[in-house]
Amino acid sequence: MKIETATLKKVLKSLSITHEKEMTCGECYEEIDHYVEMLKDGKSPEEVMPLVEHHITLCSPCREEFVALLEALKTIEEDAE
Ligand SMILES: [Zn+2]
Repeated sequence: MKIETATLKKVLKSLSITHEKEMTCGECYEEIDHYVEMLKDGKSPEEVMPLVEHHITLCSPCREEFVALLEALKTIEEDAE
């Protein structure tokens, strides 16, 4: 199997980001609504906010918050229709 250089670079980049700066729950909490908004708009928040992406992957309380926000957003949209 051949690994694409771009993929490898992306992985290495995300690893270095992780080592340079871990996001705290407080920081994640501040960014998470932007993250959800971007998702809603069909953008790729994981590219713009890899730290949030990384944090919600590892931190279950923040992931629950993220899922709850997503659900809330869905409910709002359904009500609007
Ligand atoms: Zn957290």
